[in-house]
Amino acid sequence: MSNNKFKILVIEDESNIRSFVQTMLETNGYQVLTAVTCRQGMMMFSSHIPDMVILDLGLPDRDGLEFIRMARGLSSVPILVLSARALEEDKVAALDLGANDYVTKPFGTAELMARVRAGLRIRMMAGELKDGLTGEFQLDDLTIDYSRRVVTVADREVKLTQTEFNILSLLSQHKGKVLTYSTIIRSIWGSQDDGSVKKLQVNMANIRKKLGTVPGDNRYIINELGVGYRMLDE
Ligand code: CA
Repeated sequence: MSNNKFKILVIEDESNIRSFVQTMLETNGYQVLTAVTCRQGMMMFSSHIPDMVILDLGLPDRDGLEFIRMARGLSSVPILVLSARALEEDKVAALDLGANDYVTKPFGTAELMARVRAGLRIRMMAGELKDGLTGEFQLDDLTIDYSRRVVTVADREVKLTQTEFNILSLLSQHKGKVLTYSTIIRSIWGSQDDGSVKKLQVNMANIRKKLGTVPGDNRYIINELGVGYRMLDE
Protein backbone atom coordinates (compact mmCIF):
# COMPACT_ATOMS: atom_id res chain seq x y z
CA MET A 1 0.00 0.00 0.00
CA SER A 2 1.46 3.38 -0.98
CA ASN A 3 0.25 4.92 2.28
CA ASN A 4 2.97 3.00 4.10
CA LYS A 5 5.54 5.68 3.65
CA PHE A 6 3.53 8.27 5.59
CA LYS A 7 4.35 8.76 9.25
CA ILE A 8 1.65 10.48 11.33
CA LEU A 9 2.17 11.88 14.83
CA VAL A 10 -0.94 11.85 17.04
CA ILE A 11 -0.83 14.16 20.08
CA GLU A 12 -3.84 13.48 22.30
CA ASP A 13 -4.11 12.98 26.07
CA GLU A 14 -7.43 11.11 26.12
CA SER A 15 -6.39 7.48 25.79
CA ASN A 16 -9.60 6.19 24.17
CA ILE A 17 -9.51 8.85 21.44
CA ARG A 18 -5.77 8.35 20.96
CA SER A 19 -6.10 4.61 20.47
CA PHE A 20 -9.18 5.02 18.28
CA VAL A 21 -7.27 7.36 15.97
CA GLN A 22 -4.17 5.18 16.05
CA THR A 23 -6.11 2.03 15.18
CA MET A 24 -7.95 3.80 12.40
CA LEU A 25 -4.74 5.14 10.85
CA GLU A 26 -2.90 1.85 11.16
CA THR A 27 -5.82 0.01 9.58
CA ASN A 28 -5.47 2.39 6.65
CA GLY A 29 -1.78 1.63 6.28
CA TYR A 30 -0.19 4.64 7.94
CA GLN A 31 2.69 4.51 10.38
CA VAL A 32 1.65 6.08 13.71
CA LEU A 33 3.58 7.76 16.51
CA THR A 34 1.74 8.94 19.62
CA ALA A 35 2.33 11.52 22.33
CA VAL A 36 0.25 12.32 25.41
CA THR A 37 1.49 15.81 26.31
CA CYS A 38 2.40 18.88 24.30
CA ARG A 39 6.02 18.67 25.42
CA GLN A 40 6.28 14.99 24.45
CA GLY A 41 4.70 15.85 21.10
CA MET A 42 7.29 18.54 20.45
CA MET A 43 10.10 16.10 21.22
CA MET A 44 8.65 13.40 18.97
CA PHE A 45 8.11 15.98 16.26
CA SER A 46 11.73 17.09 16.16
CA SER A 47 13.19 13.61 16.44
CA HIS A 48 10.89 11.74 14.02
CA ILE A 49 9.95 14.43 11.45
CA PRO A 50 6.43 13.09 10.73
CA ASP A 51 4.57 13.69 7.44
CA MET A 52 1.51 14.95 9.27
CA VAL A 53 0.41 15.82 12.81
CA ILE A 54 -3.01 15.20 14.37
CA LEU A 55 -3.25 17.49 17.37
CA ASP A 56 -5.63 17.84 20.30
CA LEU A 57 -5.85 21.45 21.52
CA GLY A 58 -6.69 20.64 25.14
CA LEU A 59 -3.48 19.05 26.40
CA PRO A 60 -2.58 18.60 30.08
CA ASP A 61 0.67 20.59 30.14
CA ARG A 62 0.27 23.30 27.50
CA ASP A 63 -2.24 24.53 24.97
CA GLY A 64 -2.01 22.71 21.64
CA LEU A 65 -1.78 26.13 19.98
CA GLU A 66 1.76 26.30 21.35
CA PHE A 67 2.62 23.16 19.43
CA ILE A 68 1.37 24.77 16.22
CA ARG A 69 3.44 27.88 16.87
CA MET A 70 6.57 25.77 17.48
CA ALA A 71 6.01 23.48 14.49
CA ARG A 72 5.36 26.36 12.09
CA GLY A 73 8.68 27.85 13.07
CA LEU A 74 10.29 24.69 11.71
CA SER A 75 8.21 23.26 8.90
CA SER A 76 5.06 23.32 6.82
CA VAL A 77 3.95 19.85 7.97
CA PRO A 78 0.16 19.47 7.63
CA ILE A 79 -1.48 19.85 11.05
CA LEU A 80 -5.01 18.57 11.61
CA VAL A 81 -6.54 19.85 14.83
CA LEU A 82 -8.90 17.68 16.89
CA SER A 83 -11.00 20.00 18.94
CA ALA A 84 -13.67 19.42 21.53
CA ARG A 85 -14.17 23.13 21.59
CA ALA A 86 -16.99 24.18 19.37
CA LEU A 87 -15.86 27.77 19.86
CA GLU A 88 -15.12 29.48 16.60
CA GLU A 89 -12.31 31.59 18.10
CA ASP A 90 -10.31 28.46 18.86
CA LYS A 91 -10.66 27.08 15.37
CA VAL A 92 -9.75 30.45 13.90
CA ALA A 93 -6.75 30.82 16.23
CA ALA A 94 -5.49 27.34 15.27
CA LEU A 95 -5.99 27.95 11.55
CA ASP A 96 -4.41 31.39 11.71
CA LEU A 97 -1.35 29.99 13.48
CA GLY A 98 -0.97 27.66 10.51
CA ALA A 99 -3.00 24.54 11.26
CA ASN A 100 -4.33 23.13 7.98
CA ASP A 101 -7.70 21.88 9.10
CA TYR A 102 -9.77 20.92 12.10
CA VAL A 103 -12.23 18.21 13.07
CA THR A 104 -14.64 18.76 15.94
CA LYS A 105 -15.12 15.88 18.39
CA PRO A 106 -16.95 13.59 18.16
CA PHE A 107 -15.94 12.71 14.60
CA GLY A 108 -16.38 9.63 12.48
CA THR A 109 -13.85 7.40 10.77
CA ALA A 110 -14.75 8.50 7.25
CA GLU A 111 -14.49 12.19 8.11
CA LEU A 112 -11.12 11.84 9.81
CA MET A 113 -9.64 9.71 7.03
CA ALA A 114 -10.81 12.17 4.37
CA ARG A 115 -9.11 15.02 6.24
CA VAL A 116 -5.91 12.98 6.60
CA ARG A 117 -5.84 12.25 2.87
CA ALA A 118 -6.47 15.95 2.10
CA GLY A 119 -3.64 16.98 4.45
CA LEU A 120 -1.17 14.60 2.88
CA ARG A 121 -2.20 15.72 -0.59
CA ILE A 122 -1.48 19.35 0.36
CA ARG A 123 1.97 18.21 1.44
CA MET A 124 2.60 16.46 -1.87
CA MET A 125 1.36 19.44 -3.86
CA ALA A 126 3.32 22.03 -1.88
CA GLY A 127 6.48 21.55 -3.91
CA GLU A 128 4.69 21.92 -7.25
CA LEU A 129 2.82 25.07 -6.24
CA LYS A 130 5.97 27.00 -5.41
CA ASP A 131 7.00 26.83 -9.05
CA GLY A 132 4.08 28.99 -10.09
CA LEU A 133 0.67 27.89 -11.10
CA THR A 134 0.21 26.03 -14.31
CA GLY A 135 -2.18 23.37 -15.42
CA GLU A 136 -5.80 22.96 -14.60
CA PHE A 137 -8.04 22.47 -11.64
CA GLN A 138 -11.07 20.27 -12.14
CA LEU A 139 -14.04 19.78 -9.83
CA ASP A 140 -17.19 18.27 -11.34
CA ASP A 141 -18.01 20.50 -14.29
CA LEU A 142 -15.87 23.37 -13.01
CA THR A 143 -12.48 23.91 -14.65
CA ILE A 144 -9.87 26.52 -13.79
CA ASP A 145 -7.10 27.05 -16.31
CA TYR A 146 -4.43 28.75 -14.20
CA SER A 147 -2.10 29.96 -16.93
CA ARG A 148 -4.85 31.34 -19.22
CA ARG A 149 -6.85 32.54 -16.18
CA VAL A 150 -10.03 31.10 -17.65
CA VAL A 151 -12.83 29.51 -15.65
CA THR A 152 -15.50 27.35 -17.23
CA VAL A 153 -18.58 25.58 -15.91
CA ALA A 154 -19.89 22.82 -18.15
CA ASP A 155 -17.65 24.20 -20.96
CA ARG A 156 -19.24 27.63 -20.70
CA GLU A 157 -16.81 30.43 -19.85
CA VAL A 158 -17.47 32.29 -16.60
CA LYS A 159 -16.43 35.95 -16.63
CA LEU A 160 -14.74 36.74 -13.33
CA THR A 161 -12.99 39.92 -12.23
CA GLN A 162 -9.26 39.65 -11.43
CA THR A 163 -10.03 39.60 -7.70
CA GLU A 164 -12.73 36.96 -8.07
CA PHE A 165 -10.38 34.81 -10.13
CA ASN A 166 -7.62 35.18 -7.53
CA ILE A 167 -9.93 34.14 -4.69
CA LEU A 168 -11.27 31.13 -6.58
CA SER A 169 -7.79 30.12 -7.61
CA LEU A 170 -6.49 30.44 -4.03
CA LEU A 171 -9.31 28.26 -2.68
CA SER A 172 -8.72 25.66 -5.39
CA GLN A 173 -5.02 25.47 -4.57
CA HIS A 174 -6.01 24.55 -1.02
CA LYS A 175 -8.93 22.31 -1.90
CA GLY A 176 -10.30 20.36 1.02
CA LYS A 177 -8.86 22.87 3.46
CA VAL A 178 -10.64 25.69 5.29
CA LEU A 179 -9.06 29.05 4.60
CA THR A 180 -9.99 31.65 7.23
CA TYR A 181 -11.24 35.10 6.27
CA SER A 182 -7.96 36.69 7.33
CA THR A 183 -5.83 34.15 5.43
CA ILE A 184 -7.75 34.87 2.23
CA ILE A 185 -7.77 38.63 2.82
CA ARG A 186 -4.02 38.77 3.48
CA SER A 187 -3.30 36.67 0.45
CA ILE A 188 -5.57 38.63 -1.93
CA TRP A 189 -5.34 42.22 -0.68
CA GLY A 190 -2.14 42.10 1.39
CA SER A 191 -3.63 43.87 4.38
CA GLN A 192 -6.83 43.89 6.29
CA ASP A 193 -9.17 46.57 7.67
CA ASP A 194 -12.68 46.77 9.13
CA GLY A 195 -14.36 46.40 5.75
CA SER A 196 -12.26 43.46 4.53
CA VAL A 197 -14.54 40.61 5.59
CA LYS A 198 -17.55 42.32 4.05
CA LYS A 199 -15.56 42.90 0.85
CA LEU A 200 -14.58 39.22 0.77
CA GLN A 201 -18.18 38.12 1.34
CA VAL A 202 -19.40 40.33 -1.49
CA ASN A 203 -16.78 38.84 -3.82
CA MET A 204 -17.71 35.32 -2.72
CA ALA A 205 -21.39 35.99 -3.35
CA ASN A 206 -20.53 37.18 -6.86
CA ILE A 207 -18.34 34.16 -7.51
CA ARG A 208 -21.09 31.77 -6.42
CA LYS A 209 -23.66 33.59 -8.54
CA LYS A 210 -21.40 33.48 -11.59
CA LEU A 211 -20.69 29.79 -11.05
CA GLY A 212 -24.45 29.29 -11.04
CA THR A 213 -24.92 28.19 -7.45
CA VAL A 214 -27.66 29.52 -5.19
CA PRO A 215 -27.20 30.24 -1.45
CA GLY A 216 -27.05 26.98 0.51
CA ASP A 217 -25.89 25.04 -2.54
CA ASN A 218 -22.43 23.72 -1.63
CA ARG A 219 -21.51 22.36 -5.02
CA TYR A 220 -18.00 23.80 -5.21
CA ILE A 221 -17.36 25.95 -2.16
CA ILE A 222 -18.48 25.41 1.41
CA ASN A 223 -19.12 28.46 3.56
CA GLU A 224 -17.75 27.62 7.02
CA LEU A 225 -19.86 30.15 8.88
CA GLY A 226 -17.87 32.57 11.00
CA VAL A 227 -14.61 30.86 10.00
CA GLY A 228 -13.90 30.96 6.28
CA TYR A 229 -14.35 29.02 3.04
CA ARG A 230 -13.44 25.57 1.83
CA MET A 231 -13.22 24.39 -1.76
CA LEU A 232 -14.56 20.87 -2.09
CA ASP A 233 -12.03 18.17 -2.68
CA GLU A 234 -13.66 15.80 -5.11
CA1 CA B 1 -7.61 16.72 25.60
